[in-house]
Amino acid sequence: MTRKISRFLAQRRPQTPCLVLDLDIVAQNYAKLRQAMPDAEIFYAMKANPAAEVLALLVRLGSSFDAASINEIDLVLAAGAEPERISFGNTIKKQADIAAAYARGVRLFAFDAWGELEKIAAAAPGSKVFCRIATSGAGAEWPLSRKFGCDPATAGSLLRLAAELGLQPYGLSFHVGSQQRDPEQWDHAVGEAATLFRMLADDGIELEMLNIGGGLPTRYRNRIPTLCAYGAVIRRSLRHHFGNRLPKVIIEPGRQMVGDAGIIQTEVVLIADREDVDSRRWVYLDIGKFGGLAETIDEAIKYPIRSRRRGPADRVVLAGPTCDSADVLYQASDYRLPRDLRIGDKLEIRSAGAYTTTYASIAFNGFEPLRCYCI
Ligand SMILES: *Cc1c(COP(=O)(O)O)cnc(C)c1O
Repeated sequence: MTRKISRFLAQRRPQTPCLVLDLDIVAQNYAKLRQAMPDAEIFYAMKANPAAEVLALLVRLGSSFDAASINEIDLVLAAGAEPERISFGNTIKKQADIAAAYARGVRLFAFDAWGELEKIAAAAPGSKVFCRIATSGAGAEWPLSRKFGCDPATAGSLLRLAAELGLQPYGLSFHVGSQQRDPEQWDHAVGEAATLFRMLADDGIELEMLNIGGGLPTRYRNRIPTLCAYGAVIRRSLRHHFGNRLPKVIIEPGRQMVGDAGIIQTEVVLIADREDVDSRRWVYLDIGKFGGLAETIDEAIKYPIRSRRRGPADRVVLAGPTCDSADVLYQASDYRLPRDLRIGDKLEIRSAGAYTTTYASIAFNGFEPLRCYCI
């Protein structure tokens, strides 16, 4: 909670729920990452928070962008990004959208399957392509492993085919899973990538780029290693596996850039004893899984939640306001709120700048999408 955010909340008294994002923190996070990974090019994964002010700030700071759809590409172009700074990084794209991106000047595309490569060859001839290899997702609080990436052998064959299709086989990518708490997880994938770089070089295909994905964490309830620790481990791993033939490295932070820059203010709508189900009090908020807190699925992401009251606290179950019984935020996890909490109280959900506005539904039960104030 920054002074800027608390002043904004005190003076403006915005309707809740709302996310308030401090752009100074975003700028600091960008600078910290520059320092931790000085040789990497930063592609902000804009799905984490595509607010126009965030994009404009990152354009000004010199960032590049990882976009997943033509709408995201249009958003970041409108914020002033040049198309050369955009990677169409989703491995699942309609051919019409690939063509639209190409028409706007985008020349860098991800794939992990033959069908995707064919679409790119047809709709974006001559473009640079990179193949995503799968990782285990171990150590991540929000794994991205099941759905994406192929094995290294397949990646090798596909990159050879890319050359035959007239595309430029440019590099490899991976994602070790979001909110990755173990910096060592990058090492295995970097090692696999280096082996593949050498194998392809033997066939005359010189890859240039390694995209080491996102996964850098933000601070929620659990402690995390420092960003410098991640930088040191990753740089050591790159040197170890690639020696002095280092590729151009791309990093795609989402959560790290915006997570701790924002807090959600929410209001307590109901406090109920539900002794039939649970001995704890149930506290219902005006935001839940469908209002932006989707990452509480399986209680994966544990946001710090604070009340201004200081009295003794008891364990509670936290739930959202919608008419869906899946809309329970925390039941297994140990969340405590003051015994004198009242209906109408405001609570702060901290480190909520990433993956909240974008995950909010449009009008489930008529609730509005999450508002975002960038200050
Ligand atoms: C979501 C995503 C990211 C960002 O991940 P974080 O864990 O938020 O840093 C980066 N790259 C790709 C391809 C993604 O899908």
